[in-house]
Amino acid sequence: MDQKLVNRLKEIVGEQWVTDDPWELCAYARAWSYELHRRPEVIVNPGSTQEVSEIMKLANETITPVNVRAGGTTNTGAALPREGGITLDLCRMDNPIELDEGSQSFSAQGGVTVYRIIKDLAAKGWKIPWKPEFGNAVTLAAWVNFNGMGVGGSVYGRVGDFLLGLEVVTPTGEIVHTGSSHFGKAAKFTRYQGTGPDLTGLFLESLGTMGVITEVYMRMYRIPEAKQQVDFAFPDEETVQEAVRLLVEANISYGICVTDDQMSITNQLPPAPGKWILSMLAEGWQEEVDFRVKKAHELCLQAGGRAFVEGERTAEWGSAASISLPYEPSRRQISCGGFHPIHKTKEIFDHYNAVGEKYGLNRGMGWWVDGNYANNFPIYVYDEETDMDRIFDIIQEVHDGWIEAGYVPDYPGPFPNMTKHIEKSYLELYRTVKRSIDPNNIMHRGMPPDMED
Ligand SMILES: Cc1cc2nc3c(=O)[nH]c(=O)nc-3n(C[C@H](O)[C@H](O)[C@H](O)COP(=O)(O)OP(=O)(O)OC[C@H]3O[C@@H](n4cnc5c(N)ncnc54)[C@H](O)[C@@H]3O)c2cc1C
Repeated sequence: MDQKLVNRLKEIVGEQWVTDDPWELCAYARAWSYELHRRPEVIVNPGSTQEVSEIMKLANETITPVNVRAGGTTNTGAALPREGGITLDLCRMDNPIELDEGSQSFSAQGGVTVYRIIKDLAAKGWKIPWKPEFGNAVTLAAWVNFNGMGVGGSVYGRVGDFLLGLEVVTPTGEIVHTGSSHFGKAAKFTRYQGTGPDLTGLFLESLGTMGVITEVYMRMYRIPEAKQQVDFAFPDEETVQEAVRLLVEANISYGICVTDDQMSITNQLPPAPGKWILSMLAEGWQEEVDFRVKKAHELCLQAGGRAFVEGERTAEWGSAASISLPYEPSRRQISCGGFHPIHKTKEIFDHYNAVGEKYGLNRGMGWWVDGNYANNFPIYVYDEETDMDRIFDIIQEVHDGWIEAGYVPDYPGPFPNMTKHIEKSYLELYRTVKRSIDPNNIMHRGMPPDMED
């Protein structure tokens, strides 16, 4: 990298917050990812929104690519730069969070971790809707860029559903506030207002391509009086799919998680007491929870399930348990999830199973409910030494079948690139917006959807 540019970056943030030391560049070239290493040319730790703005202006002037790196846990390699350039790490921007109890909301700088938000809110009796399954590396701004989801998604939806606004530095360096706080003296209490389209959505799930998120405004909720998990076993895909449909229609669950017996076998957990295990969480006032649990029993029985009896193992929640595989180091787990309507679940999993059987892979299946649809996160286990060449082709085969069944991908990403499946007029609209907000294609260059025609 041009030393003049490195020196100008040092003038903006201070000498100790810029490095192009090869040893540190190597550390930033890796992430929790199936992707190969990708090395940035310089790493910058800005300390304020103003500094981020000056960096972006300099990057535009010199046409230098910029990507933002947080915890590095998005396993499609989204945290890694595709064309070198500047990697921004906002870990210094982690001031104490600000609670606005009157508006039942909080604001926090982009570098604060979700883990700390959960702890700080809990100390005052508040919570974000649900606890994600990741550890303490994930930052709030990155979580917005990923539009996170979780077991409480039945009632609260995804991050975008409780997001109230953002402070963003655009790729050309302007500082913008979205949500109510862009207007007059309004506080950060609502995402929607009467001054035009919802610009918060432009940055949500954008994987660092649309701007640098420097502050996040989010709704918070009182920790409920009671919470209860109930577990049911089902003999096949049809019955468990029907149970989920009934529970969602009845609108009685806080969260629904479904896993199959393969997940237990693959992850060497105690045997599952049924082909499919459905766990439902209820939360609220005690009487309310009692009612929801009672109703869940009725509906699951009606669908053909049975409640766990005393002493039966309760289901492991989704991927956090399963991701720590008790295998030799060369064995890796790959997840190829996406979203589909609940009634398509059987079709989605039949195809996934068939592909796994065809290639003789150990596998496991699970899904959550986000509002009215399923978020599936099935896994295959592969051997790094022998399967590396074929695993991406196998995932492609899964996705090809799922596209036929009408699924949508979890996040765009290098793995596999879904750009060719996007409606032409939609893609053109996206490109027009991206070109207008980022005329020099500075931010996260090379991330899909592709900018090239
Ligand atoms: C074991 C495991 C369990 C998980 N469980 C859950 C779960 O229960 N619920 C859930 O929601 N998710 C879950 N995830 C996914 C997780 O939400 C994402 O991996 C995470 O949000 C990414 O955050 P990060 O800090 O690691 O960001 P990174 O991976 O570093 O970056 C993610 C993306 O955000 C961009 N970005 C980062 N910061 C900024 C910024 N300030 N401005 C603009 N762009 C930025 C990056 O460029 C990149 O494209 C899980 C992941 C793992 C590995």
